Amino acid sequence: MCLRAPLCAPYKRAVTSPLAVVCDFDGTATLLDIGDEISKRLGGAAQWKAASARFHRGDLTTRGIIEAIYTHVVAPESEVRAFAVQAARLRPGFSELIAACRERGAPFYLASGGLRQYIEAVLEKHLPPELRDWVRLRANEGIFGPGGLRVGFPGDEESRRAGCEVCGSCKRVSVAEARRGGAAFVIGIGDGFADRCLVQCADRTFAREGSYLHRYCVERALPHTPFTALHDAAEAVRSFQASGLTA
Ligand SMILES: [Mg+2]
Repeated sequence: MCLRAPLCAPYKRAVTSPLAVVCDFDGTATLLDIGDEISKRLGGAAQWKAASARFHRGDLTTRGIIEAIYTHVVAPESEVRAFAVQAARLRPGFSELIAACRERGAPFYLASGGLRQYIEAVLEKHLPPELRDWVRLRANEGIFGPGGLRVGFPGDEESRRAGCEVCGSCKRVSVAEARRGGAAFVIGIGDGFADRCLVQCADRTFAREGSYLHRYCVERALPHTPFTALHDAAEAVRSFQASGLTA
């Protein structure tokens, strides 16, 4: 698997494809936001609520809220991974989406502000090996310790170079890598605040129905396709026509 290649090592697979997919994890690939569930269960619901309120008041950046929700989590990595595995349900169509990418040789980036450790645990549990192996994961790094769970941002520097000062793990970085790899058409799929950057640079956006990203697209009249399951996104990959660059 190449799951452990966040922003640091060239991928072993040299794939040239006119199409690539950049997909969010929490609340997009999964039904629940697993980072939030970890925070609420293992750090305390009141602490999570307080951090969320600070974010919604504008007191925290995207990077700031990612750090804040884990401050009170003192559980070891093994416990966090085990909890994530039992809390996570993959969204219907997610496996089919990766399979569609794999079948046509289109890179599939899982671009997340969540933590690599719990995402890997969920993928290992819920995806077959051949699909896991097709996932290029870019995520933050959990740093576990008795003083609380801290967050490392291995993509921070690259995010800033891509023009984003606030995410710490901006999804523009995955889009830029896809384009360097030859993708003229990038499908972006997401639901949250951090997916605003994805909308700005993807060629087609799927926004989860009723999510922050969905409202953001509607309010700004940004072209998007709402979804509740990911089967339509999988079909967009299967039916992509390189000649017309449409999906
Ligand atoms: Mg999300």
